[in-house]
Amino acid sequence: MDRQKTLYRSYLLIVKLTTVLTFCFAVPLTAQVKLRLLSSFNTDSVVFGAASGEYLVKCYPSGSVLLEKGQSAVLFRSGQKLVVKAGDYPFWIIADSVLLASGSGQDSFTLSFGENGQLTRQYSGELQCGPDLGTLLLLNSCDVEAYVAGVTEAEGGSGRHREFFKVQAVIARTYMYRHLYRHAPDGFSLCDDVHCQAFNGITEDSLIISAVHETRDLIITGPDSQPIVSAFHSNCGGETVPSEHLWLTARPYLKKVEDPYCRASRNSRWTKSIPAGEWIEYLVRSGMAAVPADRAGFNFLQPVRMSRYRTGNFSLPFVQIRSDLGLRSSFFSVRTEGDSVILSGRGYGHGAGLCQEGAMVMALKGFDFRKIIEFYYRGVTVTEAGKAAAAIR
Ligand SMILES: [Zn+2]
Ligand SMILES: [Zn+2]
Repeated sequence: MDRQKTLYRSYLLIVKLTTVLTFCFAVPLTAQVKLRLLSSFNTDSVVFGAASGEYLVKCYPSGSVLLEKGQSAVLFRSGQKLVVKAGDYPFWIIADSVLLASGSGQDSFTLSFGENGQLTRQYSGELQCGPDLGTLLLLNSCDVEAYVAGVTEAEGGSGRHREFFKVQAVIARTYMYRHLYRHAPDGFSLCDDVHCQAFNGITEDSLIISAVHETRDLIITGPDSQPIVSAFHSNCGGETVPSEHLWLTARPYLKKVEDPYCRASRNSRWTKSIPAGEWIEYLVRSGMAAVPADRAGFNFLQPVRMSRYRTGNFSLPFVQIRSDLGLRSSFFSVRTEGDSVILSGRGYGHGAGLCQEGAMVMALKGFDFRKIIEFYYRGVTVTEAGKAAAAIR
Protein backbone atom coordinates (compact mmCIF):
# COMPACT_ATOMS: atom_id res chain seq x y z
CA MET A 1 0.00 0.00 0.00
CA ASP A 2 2.94 2.36 0.72
CA ARG A 3 4.00 2.11 -2.93
CA GLN A 4 0.47 2.95 -4.02
CA LYS A 5 0.34 5.99 -1.75
CA THR A 6 3.70 7.20 -3.05
CA LEU A 7 2.53 6.80 -6.64
CA TYR A 8 -0.69 8.65 -5.96
CA ARG A 9 1.16 11.49 -4.17
CA SER A 10 3.50 11.76 -7.18
CA TYR A 11 0.46 11.88 -9.43
CA LEU A 12 -1.07 14.72 -7.38
CA LEU A 13 2.23 16.58 -7.43
CA ILE A 14 2.41 16.29 -11.23
CA VAL A 15 -1.17 17.60 -11.53
CA LYS A 16 -0.34 20.58 -9.27
CA LEU A 17 2.89 21.36 -11.12
CA THR A 18 1.12 21.16 -14.48
CA THR A 19 -1.56 23.54 -13.23
CA VAL A 20 1.03 26.02 -11.96
CA LEU A 21 3.02 25.87 -15.22
CA THR A 22 -0.15 26.34 -17.27
CA PHE A 23 -0.97 29.52 -15.35
CA CYS A 24 2.64 30.78 -15.63
CA PHE A 25 2.74 30.51 -19.41
CA ALA A 26 -1.01 30.79 -20.09
CA VAL A 27 -0.47 29.79 -23.72
CA PRO A 28 -2.34 26.58 -24.40
CA LEU A 29 -5.98 27.09 -25.07
CA THR A 30 -6.56 23.54 -24.04
CA ALA A 31 -4.05 20.71 -23.69
CA GLN A 32 -6.59 18.03 -22.92
CA VAL A 33 -10.08 17.28 -24.06
CA LYS A 34 -12.65 15.30 -22.09
CA LEU A 35 -14.33 12.68 -24.28
CA ARG A 36 -17.19 10.33 -23.71
CA LEU A 37 -16.00 6.92 -24.94
CA LEU A 38 -18.09 4.12 -26.47
CA SER A 39 -21.02 6.55 -26.56
CA SER A 40 -22.94 4.60 -29.21
CA PHE A 41 -22.51 1.17 -27.59
CA ASN A 42 -24.69 1.48 -24.48
CA THR A 43 -22.27 -0.80 -22.70
CA ASP A 44 -22.65 -2.05 -19.12
CA SER A 45 -19.22 -3.58 -18.64
CA VAL A 46 -15.65 -3.12 -19.83
CA VAL A 47 -12.26 -4.66 -19.22
CA PHE A 48 -9.61 -2.00 -18.65
CA GLY A 49 -6.02 -3.00 -19.48
CA ALA A 50 -2.91 -1.04 -18.48
CA ALA A 51 -1.13 -1.06 -21.86
CA SER A 52 1.87 1.05 -20.90
CA GLY A 53 3.00 2.24 -17.48
CA GLU A 54 1.05 1.88 -14.24
CA TYR A 55 -2.50 2.90 -13.45
CA LEU A 56 -4.01 3.57 -10.05
CA VAL A 57 -7.60 2.31 -9.82
CA LYS A 58 -9.13 4.74 -7.36
CA CYS A 59 -12.59 3.70 -6.20
CA TYR A 60 -14.88 6.23 -4.52
CA PRO A 61 -15.70 6.47 -1.69
CA SER A 62 -12.92 4.04 -0.73
CA GLY A 63 -10.42 1.49 -2.03
CA SER A 64 -7.57 1.73 -4.48
CA VAL A 65 -5.51 -0.82 -6.36
CA LEU A 66 -2.35 -0.36 -8.39
CA LEU A 67 -2.36 -1.94 -11.85
CA GLU A 68 1.03 -2.71 -13.31
CA LYS A 69 1.64 -2.74 -17.05
CA GLY A 70 -0.18 -5.72 -18.54
CA GLN A 71 -2.66 -6.07 -15.66
CA SER A 72 -6.37 -5.45 -16.07
CA ALA A 73 -9.50 -4.45 -14.20
CA VAL A 74 -13.08 -5.56 -14.85
CA LEU A 75 -15.75 -2.90 -14.29
CA PHE A 76 -19.48 -3.34 -14.59
CA ARG A 77 -22.56 -1.40 -13.63
CA SER A 78 -25.04 -2.77 -11.13
CA GLY A 79 -27.92 -0.33 -10.72
CA GLN A 80 -26.40 2.96 -9.60
CA LYS A 81 -23.15 1.33 -8.42
CA LEU A 82 -19.99 0.07 -10.09
CA VAL A 83 -18.52 -3.32 -9.29
CA VAL A 84 -14.76 -3.57 -9.79
CA LYS A 85 -12.24 -6.40 -9.79
CA ALA A 86 -8.76 -4.98 -10.25
CA GLY A 87 -5.40 -6.69 -10.78
CA ASP A 88 -4.29 -9.11 -8.04
CA TYR A 89 -6.60 -7.65 -5.42
CA PRO A 90 -8.68 -10.69 -4.36
CA PHE A 91 -11.98 -8.93 -3.60
CA TRP A 92 -14.65 -7.20 -5.64
CA ILE A 93 -15.00 -3.52 -4.77
CA ILE A 94 -18.37 -1.75 -4.91
CA ALA A 95 -18.01 1.93 -5.77
CA ASP A 96 -20.02 5.02 -6.69
CA SER A 97 -17.41 5.97 -9.29
CA VAL A 98 -13.89 4.97 -10.31
CA LEU A 99 -10.90 7.00 -11.54
CA LEU A 100 -8.17 5.17 -13.43
CA ALA A 101 -5.21 7.53 -13.12
CA SER A 102 -2.06 7.17 -15.15
CA GLY A 103 1.18 7.41 -13.17
CA SER A 104 2.88 9.62 -15.77
CA GLY A 105 -0.27 11.19 -17.22
CA GLN A 106 0.85 9.95 -20.65
CA ASP A 107 0.27 6.20 -20.33
CA SER A 108 -2.08 4.24 -22.54
CA PHE A 109 -4.77 1.71 -21.79
CA THR A 110 -7.09 -0.64 -23.64
CA LEU A 111 -10.85 -1.04 -23.28
CA SER A 112 -12.39 -4.38 -24.26
CA PHE A 113 -16.15 -4.44 -24.66
CA GLY A 114 -18.98 -6.05 -26.62
CA GLU A 115 -20.86 -9.23 -25.78
CA ASN A 116 -17.76 -11.34 -25.23
CA GLY A 117 -15.31 -8.49 -24.87
CA GLN A 118 -14.35 -9.07 -28.50
CA LEU A 119 -13.82 -5.39 -29.38
CA THR A 120 -10.70 -3.66 -28.13
CA ARG A 121 -9.60 -0.06 -28.53
CA GLN A 122 -6.56 1.77 -27.24
CA TYR A 123 -6.62 5.13 -25.47
CA SER A 124 -4.28 7.38 -23.49
CA GLY A 125 -4.55 9.55 -20.38
CA GLU A 126 -6.96 8.94 -17.51
CA LEU A 127 -10.43 7.45 -17.40
CA GLN A 128 -13.37 8.27 -15.13
CA CYS A 129 -16.18 5.70 -14.85
CA GLY A 130 -19.60 5.99 -13.32
CA PRO A 131 -23.14 4.72 -13.75
CA ASP A 132 -25.42 6.99 -15.77
CA LEU A 133 -29.02 6.51 -16.85
CA GLY A 134 -28.81 2.76 -17.24
CA THR A 135 -25.38 2.68 -18.87
CA LEU A 136 -21.72 2.95 -18.02
CA LEU A 137 -20.36 6.49 -18.45
CA LEU A 138 -16.70 6.45 -19.55
CA LEU A 139 -14.95 9.83 -19.65
CA ASN A 140 -11.41 10.03 -21.00
CA SER A 141 -9.13 13.05 -20.51
CA CYS A 142 -7.03 12.81 -23.65
CA ASP A 143 -4.19 14.90 -25.02
CA VAL A 144 -5.65 17.15 -27.75
CA GLU A 145 -3.13 16.16 -30.41
CA ALA A 146 -3.57 12.43 -29.70
CA TYR A 147 -7.33 12.97 -30.06
CA VAL A 148 -6.86 14.85 -33.37
CA ALA A 149 -4.70 11.99 -34.71
CA GLY A 150 -7.35 9.42 -33.71
CA VAL A 151 -10.10 11.42 -35.44
CA THR A 152 -7.90 11.86 -38.54
CA GLU A 153 -7.59 8.09 -38.77
CA ALA A 154 -11.32 7.47 -38.15
CA GLU A 155 -12.62 10.19 -40.49
CA GLY A 156 -9.82 10.33 -43.07
CA GLY A 157 -11.30 7.98 -45.66
CA SER A 158 -9.15 5.60 -47.64
CA GLY A 159 -6.60 8.02 -49.11
CA ARG A 160 -3.07 8.08 -47.69
CA HIS A 161 -0.92 11.17 -48.26
CA ARG A 162 0.90 13.43 -45.82
CA GLU A 163 -0.67 16.70 -47.06
CA PHE A 164 -4.12 15.10 -47.13
CA PHE A 165 -3.72 13.92 -43.52
CA LYS A 166 -2.60 17.45 -42.58
CA VAL A 167 -5.83 18.82 -44.10
CA GLN A 168 -7.89 16.26 -42.21
CA ALA A 169 -6.02 16.98 -38.94
CA VAL A 170 -6.64 20.75 -39.20
CA ILE A 171 -10.33 20.07 -39.92
CA ALA A 172 -10.61 17.75 -36.87
CA ARG A 173 -8.89 20.27 -34.60
CA THR A 174 -11.12 23.08 -35.92
CA TYR A 175 -14.22 21.01 -35.24
CA MET A 176 -13.01 20.24 -31.72
CA TYR A 177 -12.47 23.90 -30.81
CA ARG A 178 -15.79 24.94 -32.33
CA HIS A 179 -17.65 22.30 -30.32
CA LEU A 180 -15.68 22.18 -27.06
CA TYR A 181 -18.79 23.01 -25.04
CA ARG A 182 -21.25 20.89 -27.00
CA HIS A 183 -21.72 18.37 -24.18
CA ALA A 184 -20.81 20.72 -21.33
CA PRO A 185 -24.15 20.17 -19.51
CA ASP A 186 -23.29 16.44 -19.44
CA GLY A 187 -19.85 17.05 -17.93
CA PHE A 188 -17.65 16.43 -20.98
CA SER A 189 -16.66 18.17 -24.23
CA LEU A 190 -17.29 15.78 -27.10
CA CYS A 191 -18.63 12.27 -27.61
CA ASP A 192 -16.70 9.74 -29.73
CA ASP A 193 -19.59 9.08 -32.11
CA VAL A 194 -20.33 10.73 -35.48
CA HIS A 195 -22.69 13.05 -33.55
CA CYS A 196 -19.45 14.93 -32.78
CA GLN A 197 -16.47 13.33 -34.55
CA ALA A 198 -15.71 9.62 -34.87
CA PHE A 199 -12.86 8.69 -32.48
CA ASN A 200 -12.04 5.00 -32.23
CA GLY A 201 -9.02 5.48 -30.01
CA ILE A 202 -5.45 6.67 -30.45
CA THR A 203 -3.48 5.72 -33.55
CA GLU A 204 0.00 4.33 -34.07
CA ASP A 205 0.01 5.27 -37.78
CA SER A 206 3.31 7.15 -38.14
CA LEU A 207 2.21 9.11 -41.25
CA ILE A 208 -0.88 10.42 -39.45
CA ILE A 209 1.08 11.19 -36.27
CA SER A 210 3.68 13.23 -38.19
CA ALA A 211 0.94 15.06 -40.16
CA VAL A 212 -0.74 16.01 -36.87
CA HIS A 213 2.60 17.07 -35.38
CA GLU A 214 3.42 19.28 -38.40
CA THR A 215 0.08 21.09 -38.09
CA ARG A 216 0.18 21.30 -34.30
CA ASP A 217 -2.33 23.87 -32.91
CA LEU A 218 -3.50 24.98 -36.38
CA ILE A 219 -7.20 25.58 -36.96
CA ILE A 220 -9.30 27.28 -39.66
CA THR A 221 -11.05 30.54 -38.79
CA GLY A 222 -13.64 32.49 -40.75
CA PRO A 223 -14.05 36.26 -41.25
CA ASP A 224 -15.39 36.50 -37.67
CA SER A 225 -12.15 34.90 -36.32
CA GLN A 226 -14.18 31.94 -34.99
CA PRO A 227 -13.36 28.34 -35.88
CA ILE A 228 -15.37 27.55 -39.03
CA VAL A 229 -18.00 24.86 -39.56
CA SER A 230 -15.42 22.50 -41.07
CA ALA A 231 -17.89 20.39 -43.05
CA PHE A 232 -16.49 17.75 -45.38
CA HIS A 233 -17.74 14.82 -47.42
CA SER A 234 -16.38 12.03 -49.61
CA ASN A 235 -16.90 13.39 -53.16
CA CYS A 236 -18.77 16.51 -54.38
CA GLY A 237 -19.35 15.22 -57.94
CA GLY A 238 -17.56 18.25 -59.41
CA GLU A 239 -19.36 21.03 -57.55
CA THR A 240 -19.83 21.66 -53.81
CA VAL A 241 -23.13 22.73 -52.24
CA PRO A 242 -23.62 26.17 -50.63
CA SER A 243 -24.40 25.64 -46.95
CA GLU A 244 -27.78 27.39 -47.18
CA HIS A 245 -29.07 24.64 -49.48
CA LEU A 246 -28.39 22.09 -46.78
CA TRP A 247 -28.75 23.71 -43.39
CA LEU A 248 -30.55 26.99 -44.18
CA THR A 249 -27.69 29.03 -42.67
CA ALA A 250 -25.48 30.74 -45.24
CA ARG A 251 -21.77 30.65 -44.29
CA PRO A 252 -19.43 32.94 -46.24
CA TYR A 253 -16.80 30.20 -46.52
CA LEU A 254 -19.21 27.38 -47.53
CA LYS A 255 -19.98 28.58 -51.07
CA LYS A 256 -20.38 26.66 -54.29
CA VAL A 257 -16.92 25.61 -55.50
CA GLU A 258 -16.34 24.08 -58.94
CA ASP A 259 -14.09 21.11 -58.30
CA PRO A 260 -12.09 19.77 -61.27
CA TYR A 261 -10.08 17.38 -59.06
CA CYS A 262 -12.56 14.70 -57.95
CA ARG A 263 -14.31 13.95 -61.24
CA ALA A 264 -12.45 10.71 -61.98
CA SER A 265 -12.32 9.47 -58.36
CA ARG A 266 -13.97 6.34 -57.00
CA ASN A 267 -17.12 7.99 -55.64
CA SER A 268 -17.65 10.50 -58.45
CA ARG A 269 -20.60 8.65 -60.06
CA TRP A 270 -23.41 6.33 -59.06
CA THR A 271 -26.67 4.97 -60.50
CA LYS A 272 -29.72 3.50 -58.86
CA SER A 273 -32.69 1.82 -60.51
CA ILE A 274 -36.11 2.07 -58.84
CA PRO A 275 -39.37 0.41 -60.09
CA ALA A 276 -41.45 3.23 -61.64
CA GLY A 277 -44.38 2.32 -59.36
CA GLU A 278 -42.25 2.90 -56.24
CA TRP A 279 -41.02 6.26 -57.55
CA ILE A 280 -44.60 7.42 -58.27
CA GLU A 281 -45.80 6.15 -54.88
CA TYR A 282 -42.96 8.04 -53.16
CA LEU A 283 -43.81 11.31 -55.00
CA VAL A 284 -47.52 10.95 -54.22
CA ARG A 285 -46.68 10.31 -50.56
CA SER A 286 -44.55 13.47 -50.66
CA GLY A 287 -47.46 15.58 -51.92
CA MET A 288 -47.66 15.16 -55.73
CA ALA A 289 -51.37 15.63 -56.62
CA ALA A 290 -51.42 14.94 -60.39
CA VAL A 291 -49.44 11.97 -61.77
CA PRO A 292 -48.07 12.71 -65.30
CA ALA A 293 -49.86 10.62 -67.95
CA ASP A 294 -46.59 10.01 -69.77
CA ARG A 295 -43.68 8.53 -67.76
CA ALA A 296 -41.30 10.79 -69.66
CA GLY A 297 -42.84 13.52 -67.48
CA PHE A 298 -40.68 12.26 -64.61
CA ASN A 299 -37.44 12.88 -66.47
CA PHE A 300 -35.29 15.64 -65.04
CA LEU A 301 -31.75 16.69 -65.93
CA GLN A 302 -29.42 18.10 -63.29
CA PRO A 303 -26.24 19.01 -65.21
CA VAL A 304 -25.21 21.47 -62.48
CA ARG A 305 -26.43 21.36 -58.90
CA MET A 306 -30.04 22.50 -58.53
CA SER A 307 -32.08 22.74 -55.38
CA ARG A 308 -35.39 21.09 -56.46
CA TYR A 309 -36.61 18.19 -58.59
CA ARG A 310 -39.62 19.21 -60.73
CA THR A 311 -42.31 17.26 -62.54
CA GLY A 312 -45.37 19.17 -63.82
CA ASN A 313 -46.39 21.60 -61.09
CA PHE A 314 -44.85 19.52 -58.34
CA SER A 315 -41.35 19.99 -56.89
CA LEU A 316 -39.33 18.48 -54.07
CA PRO A 317 -35.88 19.46 -52.66
CA PHE A 318 -33.15 17.10 -53.89
CA VAL A 319 -31.74 17.12 -50.34
CA GLN A 320 -35.03 15.71 -49.05
CA ILE A 321 -35.17 13.00 -51.74
CA ARG A 322 -31.62 11.97 -50.84
CA SER A 323 -32.50 11.73 -47.17
CA ASP A 324 -35.84 9.92 -47.72
CA LEU A 325 -34.41 7.33 -50.11
CA GLY A 326 -30.93 7.01 -48.59
CA LEU A 327 -29.16 8.07 -51.82
CA ARG A 328 -25.42 8.62 -52.07
CA SER A 329 -25.85 12.31 -53.00
CA SER A 330 -28.45 14.94 -53.91
CA PHE A 331 -26.73 15.61 -57.28
CA PHE A 332 -28.58 13.29 -59.72
CA SER A 333 -30.68 13.25 -62.88
CA VAL A 334 -33.86 11.20 -63.37
CA ARG A 335 -34.90 9.26 -66.48
CA THR A 336 -37.46 6.54 -67.08
CA GLU A 337 -36.61 3.32 -68.91
CA GLY A 338 -39.51 0.93 -69.38
CA ASP A 339 -40.87 0.15 -65.92
CA SER A 340 -37.86 1.58 -64.13
CA VAL A 341 -36.71 5.00 -63.04
CA ILE A 342 -32.94 5.41 -63.29
CA LEU A 343 -31.22 7.90 -61.01
CA SER A 344 -27.78 8.87 -62.38
CA GLY A 345 -25.84 10.59 -59.65
CA ARG A 346 -22.57 12.34 -59.02
CA GLY A 347 -20.60 12.46 -55.77
CA TYR A 348 -21.03 10.91 -52.35
CA GLY A 349 -22.08 12.74 -49.19
CA HIS A 350 -23.85 16.03 -48.39
CA GLY A 351 -21.53 17.98 -50.71
CA ALA A 352 -20.77 21.01 -48.50
CA GLY A 353 -17.25 22.16 -47.63
CA LEU A 354 -14.21 20.04 -48.36
CA CYS A 355 -14.37 17.21 -50.88
CA GLN A 356 -12.06 14.46 -49.55
CA GLU A 357 -11.40 12.74 -52.87
CA GLY A 358 -10.70 16.09 -54.55
CA ALA A 359 -8.39 17.08 -51.67
CA MET A 360 -6.55 13.78 -52.09
CA VAL A 361 -5.98 14.46 -55.81
CA MET A 362 -4.77 18.00 -55.00
CA ALA A 363 -2.31 16.53 -52.49
CA LEU A 364 -1.00 14.11 -55.14
CA LYS A 365 -0.60 17.03 -57.56
CA GLY A 366 1.63 18.82 -55.05
CA PHE A 367 -0.67 21.38 -53.41
CA ASP A 368 0.15 21.96 -49.73
CA PHE A 369 -2.46 21.61 -47.02
CA ARG A 370 -3.10 25.37 -46.72
CA LYS A 371 -3.81 25.69 -50.45
CA ILE A 372 -6.17 22.71 -50.33
CA ILE A 373 -8.07 24.15 -47.34
CA GLU A 374 -8.30 27.59 -48.99
CA PHE A 375 -9.59 26.04 -52.20
CA TYR A 376 -12.62 24.39 -50.57
CA TYR A 377 -13.28 26.91 -47.76
CA ARG A 378 -13.22 30.35 -49.33
CA GLY A 379 -11.84 33.41 -47.50
CA VAL A 380 -10.62 31.51 -44.43
CA THR A 381 -7.41 31.79 -42.39
CA VAL A 382 -5.31 28.89 -41.14
CA THR A 383 -4.02 30.08 -37.78
CA GLU A 384 -2.83 28.87 -34.37
CA ALA A 385 -5.64 28.09 -31.94
CA GLY A 386 -3.82 30.11 -29.26
CA LYS A 387 -4.06 33.24 -31.41
CA ALA A 388 -7.78 32.70 -31.95
CA ALA A 389 -8.29 31.91 -28.25
CA ALA A 390 -9.88 35.19 -27.24
CA ALA A 391 -12.37 34.89 -30.07
CA ILE A 392 -13.18 31.28 -29.21
CA ARG A 393 -13.89 32.14 -25.60
ZN1 LIG B 1 -21.59 14.34 -29.48
ZN1 LIG C 1 -15.11 17.24 -55.39
